[in-house]
Amino acid sequence: MEIKSIGVIGAGAMGSGIAHVCALAGYDVALVDADRSRADHALKTIDGNMDRQVRRGLIAEDDKTAGLARISVVDGFADLAQCDCVIEAATENEAVKKEIFTQLTETLKPEAIICSNTSSIPITRLAAATDRPEKFMGMHFMNPVPVMRLVELIRGLATDAETFGTIRDLTLTLEKVPANAEDFPAFIVNRILLPMINEAVYALYEGVGTVESIDTAMKLGANHPMGPLELADFIGLDVCYSVMQVLYDGLADTKYRPCPLLAKYVEAGWLGRKSGKGFYDYTGDEPVPTR
Ligand code: NAD
Repeated sequence: MEIKSIGVIGAGAMGSGIAHVCALAGYDVALVDADRSRADHALKTIDGNMDRQVRRGLIAEDDKTAGLARISVVDGFADLAQCDCVIEAATENEAVKKEIFTQLTETLKPEAIICSNTSSIPITRLAAATDRPEKFMGMHFMNPVPVMRLVELIRGLATDAETFGTIRDLTLTLEKVPANAEDFPAFIVNRILLPMINEAVYALYEGVGTVESIDTAMKLGANHPMGPLELADFIGLDVCYSVMQVLYDGLADTKYRPCPLLAKYVEAGWLGRKSGKGFYDYTGDEPVPTR
């Protein structure tokens, strides 16, 4: 099946990035958010991010103009009816996503493929809530989407070979690199990355090191571009905590127990960069460790 037009549901960090890369790759993009102002704001963000790509010589000014012109903000799912593929990137909440699929499939043409960008909800379970589980799969982009090259592709139990092949081709057209993951909790990247971050929080909790020494150790000792606590703040501590919960519940193994200190930071509303404070305080000129 040939994809020409793509609907993107949710215009947050991920939805705006997905719209950005799809439009630059030549697809017509219809972007919708429950909150219209978020979609309008996403267009401004995309404009700014494309400007940065122009300044860095990654794309030409003409590419930017043509890409932006391919994105339209629409008001409801009925406006996605003729899209060949819809990528859902709304809030990470199973009830919210299921309700989206119920409403979307009322008008979406039957041959259209639906993908979810979920980080942690089982694809098979989401697929079962649609009228087309064979045309449903996971397409897990990384944040920030225009920069990160990986897309995890996750087949649900019912996903057919044609759907998988079409979405694999789409991923390559977006100049991303696909990695196939089976439908198990947190897929590949988060299954491996989040326990490492959780272990770094345990090391802090047990006094093995300070925020600064743990991050320095992993940057210089393991050659990681960011320390694990710095990375946790970037991802969002609430997100880190919820992925650990998904691993703990889904695999029933105590090795995935979220660190109590991580829970405490989340309870305090210290969620990392987005709230101004996490393992570092971001309110000044330079991030300052909070422990
Ligand atoms: P976000 O909170 O920045 O954006 C979510 C958007 O969805 C919001 O603008 C919200 O208004 C909108 N929304 C909520 N309900 C809606 C509905 N019924 N219809 C339309 N829009 C609705 O979240 P995000 O970080 O962009 O994450 C989106 C998805 O991508 C989640 O499933 C998340 O797990 C996944 N994901 C996130 C990351 C990340 O690092 N942030 C990485 C990979 C995947």
